[in-house]
Amino acid sequence: DLSLKEHDHELYKLIEAEKFRQYRGIELIASENFTYKFVLECLGSALTNKYSEGYPGARYYGGNEYIDKIEDLARNRALEAYRLNPAEWGVNVQPYSGSPANLAVYTALLQPGERLMGLDLTQGGHLTHGYYTESKKVSATSLFWESKQYKVNLQTGHIDYDALEAAAKEFKPKIIIAGFSAYPRDLDYKRFRQIADSVGAYLLADMAHISGLVAAQELNNPFEYAHVVSTTTHKSLRGPRSGMIFARREIMDKIDFAVFPMLQGGPHNHQVAALAAQLKQVNTPEFKEYCQQVKKNAKALADELMKRGNKIVTDGTDNHLLLLDVRPHSLTGSKLEKACDEVHITLNKNTIIGDKSAITPGGVRIGTPAVTTRGYLEQDMKQVGVFIDETIKISKKIQETSGKKLKEFQEGLEKSAEIKQLAQEVE
Ligand code: PLP
Repeated sequence: DLSLKEHDHELYKLIEAEKFRQYRGIELIASENFTYKFVLECLGSALTNKYSEGYPGARYYGGNEYIDKIEDLARNRALEAYRLNPAEWGVNVQPYSGSPANLAVYTALLQPGERLMGLDLTQGGHLTHGYYTESKKVSATSLFWESKQYKVNLQTGHIDYDALEAAAKEFKPKIIIAGFSAYPRDLDYKRFRQIADSVGAYLLADMAHISGLVAAQELNNPFEYAHVVSTTTHKSLRGPRSGMIFARREIMDKIDFAVFPMLQGGPHNHQVAALAAQLKQVNTPEFKEYCQQVKKNAKALADELMKRGNKIVTDGTDNHLLLLDVRPHSLTGSKLEKACDEVHITLNKNTIIGDKSAITPGGVRIGTPAVTTRGYLEQDMKQVGVFIDETIKISKKIQETSGKKLKEFQEGLEKSAEIKQLAQEVE
């Protein structure tokens, strides 16, 4: 057997280069993390060779005695990680990732064309929560089902629960989704459930971003109120790329049937094993401490940036992420993202409430799960705050000086007779 290095040197070098990029940089993408060696070991194991359509004890293929034990281990540990009573809750650990997990929930609980409501993508929701624009049904969720996006309060940046209630009463969805990809505050699941009950909807909590913090009891517990909880396992949970769906026993069979046979084929057993290994880690004091530090780090960074005169949406954070509004600096999120890339700070552009268009987002999203894994503490986050603030100031200066001169230069060119004639010829 050849190693990758021997078999495909080109690819080997690309992977090594990416490894070095991850090692050198300051990784602030809120949805990313560095997983454990034992997780990577499972992902690269012989389990990737095996087909096992079905569930433990009821497979469509032979030779699954060990796979059954591995999947049961993952399921039991998942329930334990969230302190769930197996008589009340079940879990499916087969979704290939977060998007297929959400699709399975909708497939299980909705008929085609029925209605759901999720947080507007441009205000922190996820594509799979039903994203559409005026001209386009962007997500398949909005194509196969009818969706309506609820909003945050434009002044405070917090979810507007009263407006959500009024909209739900009018729209009458069958599922309301409590979850986000870019929202810096905790959620009021009790209020979500009251609203869901008032219109006879299921409450789906999509805790993809915060599933580590929920396991560590560092944020409100969605399981107290939700009927179904979906999640990815590679963000704050720090496991492999994968997905899970927890559901109350009454609807668990429907969820299982939607995952297999309705949407997926053979489970990715290497992912399931890696998840089981990570869920063992989640139940340790070290993981709890890690999650506490993730939150402390986000707060330290937000405080430092605000101290330096920057605008943070909702003036802070309850969780692992913050949204930095760069519009007061006359910058865009895209420009700051690029400038940060140049100094090996990795973060992503993000729409900020009040943005007119999602194409030129007015800010960036910054998260702390990955750097906390690297061992960063509050004092390190303050330093990161200084780096980001300096990058903003330099970008602003470039824009005001060279950028302005370049614009004048171009405007001058456009006025010239030669350019006018060329433009006419092109037309
Ligand atoms: N749900 C939420 C809230 C997310 O933030 C994400 C991913 O960012 C997903 C679902 C989808 O997960 P995946 O990218 O694994 O399909």
